[in-house]
Amino acid sequence: IFNFSAGPSMLPVSVLEKAASEMLDYNNSGMSVMEMSHRSKVYDKIIKDTERKLREVMGIPDNYKVLFLQGGATLQFSMIPMNLMTKNRKADYIVSGSFSGKAYKEAQKYGEAHLAATSKADNFSHIPTQEELNLSPDADYLHICENNTIFGTTYNYLPETNGVPIVSDMSSCILSKPVDVEKYGVIYAGAQKNMGPAGLTVVIIREDLVGEPLDKTPVMMRFDEMVANDSMYNTPPTYAIYILGLVLDWVESMGGLTGMEAHNTKKAALLYDYLDQSKLFKTNVVKENRSLMNVTFMTGNEELDAKFVKESAERGFSNLKGHRSVGGMRASIYNAMPMEGVEALVAFMKEFEEKNA
Ligand code: PLP
Repeated sequence: IFNFSAGPSMLPVSVLEKAASEMLDYNNSGMSVMEMSHRSKVYDKIIKDTERKLREVMGIPDNYKVLFLQGGATLQFSMIPMNLMTKNRKADYIVSGSFSGKAYKEAQKYGEAHLAATSKADNFSHIPTQEELNLSPDADYLHICENNTIFGTTYNYLPETNGVPIVSDMSSCILSKPVDVEKYGVIYAGAQKNMGPAGLTVVIIREDLVGEPLDKTPVMMRFDEMVANDSMYNTPPTYAIYILGLVLDWVESMGGLTGMEAHNTKKAALLYDYLDQSKLFKTNVVKENRSLMNVTFMTGNEELDAKFVKESAERGFSNLKGHRSVGGMRASIYNAMPMEGVEALVAFMKEFEEKNA
């Protein structure tokens, strides 16, 4: 089947096969990676190799720390303000969807969270433009959600902030295309879309932003402690980190992030081109903000949408139902979705359109 889940989502078959082949005995260690002490020599090499590969693939400069944490991207909604909203006790938030809304709401507990812009009025069908931003010159950071998983929108520019660090939630677009890490203060992402299994959260943070957190910040939520302990203050999500290493090998084999972008652009174009000429299906997302990863669409008729979801599932396309807050359908076509998956989906949509137009 082709799995269009928004996350956890598909992994490359070759990654799963490699993990399966090493499941009982990793590299003649006599045990599974799952059974290994995180302080063992064998595991130390796994975590260091994973970090090295991530640095290579994403081009992460030396003055950035890479952290392997838990708690999902959602814990970062709290951890970011507790650690970074500390100088002026103020941060700007762009609310472009559901997750950035949650991040904005959470930040209000820790200081002055200022709404720099929102596209809520048009049900998040576009990303606020630079001209729409009301930025604070004294903000400790600007928080954005770079790809809105639920609404299927993505930034086509990076806000100009006059030196205020950008904190970006890249949960649903990390590793999908090249990124200039230097333009960000912090990048974070839950692993369960483009990086591996749920349970791992990757944080990439510029060294000078690892400051003193707010008083009484729990030790597990202090960036300085996580950095000082190389993500091993306690037991890290060992198996998920190992899988991320395998995923990064696969990304390299696909031509790195440039190769991934070409692969993803081709897949998304096939789907959007079809939607643009279809008389049955449409997407509400404006052209300039269409996500490469999450494609939302609908017929405009709820019964027909439900029929499509049901029939598509019977034909081996799983998880095409849209998020409950948007309705319709959503095809998440992350890195691991092969071109054949999108080709088969478009062929099925054409067939459905002919029968139901
Ligand atoms: N941010 C974005 C953009 C997401 O897509 C998600 C989950 O789908 C989250 C945050 C929440 O992630 P987690 O479930 O890892 O907390």
